[in-house]
Amino acid sequence: MGVYMVTGSASGMGRSTAEQLRWEGHRVIGVDLHKAEVNADLSTPEGRASAVEQVLENCGGRLDGAVLAAGLGPIPGREKLIANVNFLGVVELLEGIHPALATAGNAKVVIFSSNSTTTVPGIPEELINAFKERDLDTALAIAEAAGPDASATFVYAGSKTAITHWIRTIGVTEEWAGAGIRVNALAPGAIRTPLLEQQLNDPELAPSIRAFPIPVHEFGKPEEVAQWAIFMLSPAANFLCGSVIFLDGGTDAYFRADSWPKAITPEEFPRFKQRMADFAASLEK
Ligand code: NAD
Repeated sequence: MGVYMVTGSASGMGRSTAEQLRWEGHRVIGVDLHKAEVNADLSTPEGRASAVEQVLENCGGRLDGAVLAAGLGPIPGREKLIANVNFLGVVELLEGIHPALATAGNAKVVIFSSNSTTTVPGIPEELINAFKERDLDTALAIAEAAGPDASATFVYAGSKTAITHWIRTIGVTEEWAGAGIRVNALAPGAIRTPLLEQQLNDPELAPSIRAFPIPVHEFGKPEEVAQWAIFMLSPAANFLCGSVIFLDGGTDAYFRADSWPKAITPEEFPRFKQRMADFAASLEK
């Protein structure tokens, strides 16, 4: 049986994942604001550092996997919290626990992305890039300039897009894939958790959520998403690396059926050739 860190373990999909892991006999180190083995505020640098320290101590230097589910939804007025928890709350925790994951030799990581990465129109490219440069002030300023109606949505979708690009970037490096760590993302659509309920209870936000197309005609269930996370922590995921699994009742496919998969374009060909050369060079080391 393994030892797993689960952030956001006090509610929704993180909670359901932690419960099912425990039911299977694994040990779970939950990280949340409250009601967790590690109580820490992932919106601050001190809270994130403290979480890493406590998790490393609690796991004895070895983790079989991690689920990064702590996060906030696109609620207006919470932009700074959303940016910090959804982006740095994943990056800094994963970087901090990397040694413990590497020690396991075949660890698995699942981060919670979102189908807002592909279904929110017009997320500014500069905002996503600012996140990737860890310049959250710039990301927040770009979102604010888009106006009060778009700001929280852009910060939310931008943070989820940037974190998804980040895990795909690091996930295929020697430091992670080469250390036996498989890093992948789940991209849920609307799932019936307290996060979604909060939005459905908001008269400003509810109509657009209810009107958003879901081809299977219902919201997802947290316990079903948790089963996917657990599958992605299992040996079945040994060959899954840098992937993003959309679990959204068909919304992404509804809007963008032919956007992906897509061949490398002539414009992308120089980068492709460079990546081929880089990989060959890495094998010679
Ligand atoms: P939830 O609100 O039920 O649970 C989120 C958990 O994160 C809570 O326990 C909360 O306390 C914790 N958290 C929030 N801020 C924190 C902080 N500063 N420090 C530590 N913990 C903090 O949410 P959920 O719906 O289960 O969402 C889980 C993840 O899935 C989130 O990253 C969310 O963005 C993502 N997601 C959710 C949906 C959805 O429809 N529910 C859709 C797509 C993606």
